[in-house]
Amino acid sequence: SITVESLRKSFGAHSALDGISFEVPKNAFFCVVGPSGCGKSTLLRAIAGLESPDEGRIALDGRTVCDGHTDIPSEERQVGVVFQSYALWPHLSVARNVSFPYEAKGTGRAKALRLASEHLETVALSDYADRRPDALSGGQRQRVALARCLAGDTRTILMDEPLANLDPHLRHTMEGELRAFHDRSGVTTLFITHDQREAMALADIMAVMENGRFLQLGTPQDIYDRPANARVARFIGRGA
Ligand code: ATP
Ligand code: MG
Repeated sequence: SITVESLRKSFGAHSALDGISFEVPKNAFFCVVGPSGCGKSTLLRAIAGLESPDEGRIALDGRTVCDGHTDIPSEERQVGVVFQSYALWPHLSVARNVSFPYEAKGTGRAKALRLASEHLETVALSDYADRRPDALSGGQRQRVALARCLAGDTRTILMDEPLANLDPHLRHTMEGELRAFHDRSGVTTLFITHDQREAMALADIMAVMENGRFLQLGTPQDIYDRPANARVARFIGRGA
């Protein structure tokens, strides 16, 4: 589960997170949609432990990872993160980029590579295991980053527009793969997108975000059937 209470973060005079509170149950696929600059990445980075909030509390599976007293380091939060712009290790092969999170936790190289090859199969990159990242297309690199976030002892997956660089066909395929992976693994997932269609298709629960706040949180069906206000209705394409 992901619990966020009264989370605030300002950059100078600009309030990127304006007192957000919500609770997402364990195993849920949770999508946050909202326009550029509304604070989505800042929220994800705070949950991942990559940004210190000014105020508020964050708990993962009931464990407080951040409040006025506690700040558990990112690598101890058991989160896997996929960014808008993928970050791979350029000196490692594709296979070792994916096996590395296992090796870092003490799994032997051979077993780690075996596990990695399963994840590479999930993202349809088995044939690219021995290449270096700079010999891949942007979309292929993004898929390696996805495969890597499946590795390790991950209890929460945080994805920041992970499909943004893919062509429409692959994007559609990967949406299905991600949802299937989620359903198999039961890992609580936060998925950020500015594409409301993608959010409606993937989410168990979704939130519509604007100006550092959630305008509404609910199932896609609820939000579609009963938008809280005209701005939500417009954003999800139901007109005013
Ligand atoms: P996008 O869809 O374009 O990725 P976003 O919803 O992810 O947008 P954020 O990256 O969370 O938006 O940014 C929220 C606001 O905070 C923006 O106005 C942004 O300019 C500002 N901001 C984010 N990071 C910083 C920073 N390190 N320093 C100053 N301002 C920042
Ligand atoms: Mg962003």
